[in-house]
Amino acid sequence: MLRLSELKLPLDHAPEAMAPAICARLGIDPAELLDVRLWRRAHDARKKSAILMIYTVDVALRDEAAVLARFAADHQVRPTPDTDYRFPVRAPEGFDGPRPVVIGAGPCGLFAGLILAQMGFKPIILDRGKVVRERTKDTWALWRKSELNPESNVQFGEGGAGTFSDGKLYSQIKDPRFLGRKVLEEFVAAGAPEEILTEAHPHIGTFRLVHMVENIRALIEGLGGEYRWQHRVEDFEIETAEDGGRRLKGLRLSTGETLETEHVVLAVGHSARDTFEVLHERGVHIEAKPFSIGVRIEHPQSWMDKARFGACAGHPDLGAADYSLSHHCSNGRTVYSFCMCPGGTVVAATSEPNRVVTNGMSQYSRNERNANSGFVVAIDPERDYPGHPLAGIEFQRKWESLAFTAGGGDYRAPAQKVGDFLAGRPSQELGVVEPSYKPGIRMTDLAECLPPFVLEAMREALPVFGRQIAGYDHPDVLMTGVETRTSSPIRITRGKDGQSLNTAGLFPAGEGAGYAGGILSAGVDGIKIAEAVAEAYAARGWAT
Ligand code: FAD
Repeated sequence: MLRLSELKLPLDHAPEAMAPAICARLGIDPAELLDVRLWRRAHDARKKSAILMIYTVDVALRDEAAVLARFAADHQVRPTPDTDYRFPVRAPEGFDGPRPVVIGAGPCGLFAGLILAQMGFKPIILDRGKVVRERTKDTWALWRKSELNPESNVQFGEGGAGTFSDGKLYSQIKDPRFLGRKVLEEFVAAGAPEEILTEAHPHIGTFRLVHMVENIRALIEGLGGEYRWQHRVEDFEIETAEDGGRRLKGLRLSTGETLETEHVVLAVGHSARDTFEVLHERGVHIEAKPFSIGVRIEHPQSWMDKARFGACAGHPDLGAADYSLSHHCSNGRTVYSFCMCPGGTVVAATSEPNRVVTNGMSQYSRNERNANSGFVVAIDPERDYPGHPLAGIEFQRKWESLAFTAGGGDYRAPAQKVGDFLAGRPSQELGVVEPSYKPGIRMTDLAECLPPFVLEAMREALPVFGRQIAGYDHPDVLMTGVETRTSSPIRITRGKDGQSLNTAGLFPAGEGAGYAGGILSAGVDGIKIAEAVAEAYAARGWAT
């Protein structure tokens, strides 16, 4: 088959218009076109009066070689690539050697566990949190009753940080092996709608994610894998050889047990601050890395739909409008929109007592009143938290604690209207935008809980974004703070073999280790690291 990309049709085209458009683009007779399969569907709304649907399709033709030769210089006409996933290594039949351990049941740990199980290992998956149904109750306890369980919340427990989310399933990572396709296909097999395979910006919402992680759990268990809930890894036993080489030998767990193992996937997410501290104490190589901080910004979804789609707002093929914005400020900072959740809610996302952290989520329907997204400023270790690999964590904690105080000290979040923020005065009352954050907000001055250079950058970016999306900087638009966990503040650096630079047997992976940002990329990294674990078993001769 041939893959034809950038095929443009008007928004309201009839399904039958596809085949003639393909034939016209390729200059072939309709009889030459044998089959058409959709690979990707997107829209281009840059011209609101003429919104286009953009397709990538795979076509079977009577004479593909001739067409390919004619379009040799056209990168939009190419042979369809092979996107099937193949295991690079498999455990020997009936393998019952020492079991690999995966720490963390977020998307990275789930895919590491799934691939290891499919390759014939029987992984043990440890998570400090609870199964997803119980975890849901604990998460809602913070949102409804201001009761935080530090071990079971938005960050910790089955499904990881992305379970209560918008479930956006796209990423900008380079993916020459189409590992993202494997993640999406496993999600579909676990109950996600098939459209995630073809939509350019697929999302599944929080409700379906809960079912999917349960189904993936059943699959892993069916292959001989095992989950252990409420098993927090508290320490790492590392042996140092005479030549100075270090190897992981075991894990100490919160249950009091020691688990002997020499192959551990570390997929603990970006909020496992206690785990990072122990790893640092044990001498595991860790570096500080850049991340971003700011607020969640909320607009009525109808404003965003109108600004992006004009008269076509509400069209079923367009859905609720999203946006992606970025601005380089005169103070050298970059401000950008992050994790945009159309038709969703702002959520309380702290995992530590007496701190406030915001994030966003939505249901599949994306039909809540407001759009929200992170409105954040990029920061880096050299300038903003120098001197220690874990200094970024202290930086986050400082602003999260100040946000807790500014919110009233009861897990409400501090909030301010854009008009007041730009004028430098505290907000007293709400405007037209109603807050969605639970357990509630307190109107105040966000200058109490964000660094001055962040405030300065946000003040410069707001009118710039307002010129790109009408209403973005309306005085009544609401900002709720603070958004500090945009990505991991550290990197647990690994070598080409997937293992920690200075600790053999430890395979850092996913968002917490600095190798992913988002559900899809965390899943892809889980696949890569499972392959690295299997290669390490093979290199040691399977008996280890
Ligand atoms: P995590 O998902 O953080 O999983 C880590 C797991 O490790 C947790 O289950 C935790 O309990 C466990 N753990 C931690 N420490 C230990 C320990 N010591 N012992 C045992 N277990 C431990 N991304 C998107 O792509 N799309 C979205 O729409 C989206 N929305 C989001 C909304 C919210 C509210 C949040 C919080 C995040 C969102 N994200 C979204 C980001 C996404 O969830 C993360 O990028 C992704 O979950 C990272 O996956 P991970 O497996 O690396 O880590």
